[in-house]
Amino acid sequence: MFSDDRSNIDNMSLSPSLANDVFENAVQHAYLFCGEDSVAQARLFAMAINCTDSRDGNPCGICPVCRRTSLGSYADLIVIQPQKGWIRIDQIRDMQSKVFLRSMEGGKKVIIIEDADFMKTEAANSLLKVLEEPPEDTVFILCAATKDKLLPTIISRCLFYHFGKEGSFVIDPASLAVAEEKVLTFFSLLNGGVVPILNFADSFDKNKDKEGLLYFFIALWQKLAADAKNEVLQVSERELAMRSAMFAERAVDLLRRNINQRLLCDVTLIRLWLMYR
Ligand SMILES: [Zn+2]
Repeated sequence: MFSDDRSNIDNMSLSPSLANDVFENAVQHAYLFCGEDSVAQARLFAMAINCTDSRDGNPCGICPVCRRTSLGSYADLIVIQPQKGWIRIDQIRDMQSKVFLRSMEGGKKVIIIEDADFMKTEAANSLLKVLEEPPEDTVFILCAATKDKLLPTIISRCLFYHFGKEGSFVIDPASLAVAEEKVLTFFSLLNGGVVPILNFADSFDKNKDKEGLLYFFIALWQKLAADAKNEVLQVSERELAMRSAMFAERAVDLLRRNINQRLLCDVTLIRLWLMYR
């Protein structure tokens, strides 16, 4: 269940503020986590909430509750993820039918909604009704890249947190504008062969332009994420954009961790070329 890279918690600890909520027995009904570490924090928080050997509000990581939550097999944990690009109303209804039942494990029920910004309007309205009158002993954790696409009425029901490395990363508008031009160039190459793609990748490497490459992937990610939500596009185009956006997002993440720039660039751009050609 928690198999994707975004939920990697191996090198991460729970936010002290969330640990404090657990420690003080002050866990709220609904949280909104934004930023690249939001899913991992949601997972850690879900563990901490029901951990039987919690230390200062942090999950122990080894008790049966922690282990089963980590594996996604804890009975009172519901994880909702987009299906074919969207979270749909039947997924919210299915969750609704379960959260009003008693806890099966005796603790709190935790509902993690990943990519909550990819929620159809009817689904969002249905979720809003649940958030307005939340069932007892239930914690909703919405995760999203940003809160821009969420209903203001949903945001206002949640305690908002931002997780990620963006805090130490200031985006320079001029560099981003240059990168946006490069993204357009890249898209114009997608109908051709692989050689222009490799030459394009080369241009970053030749100039040892790591920052330019990072900005390129940020601009690419933003464009694909916008395409994925653009209702003017066909469903298949939006789904392609959403899958591709994940590769671009991953590239941004890996570049910030100093991964081999050349290899990452070649692999990601060729993969996108294969998907789009
Ligand atoms: Zn534990």
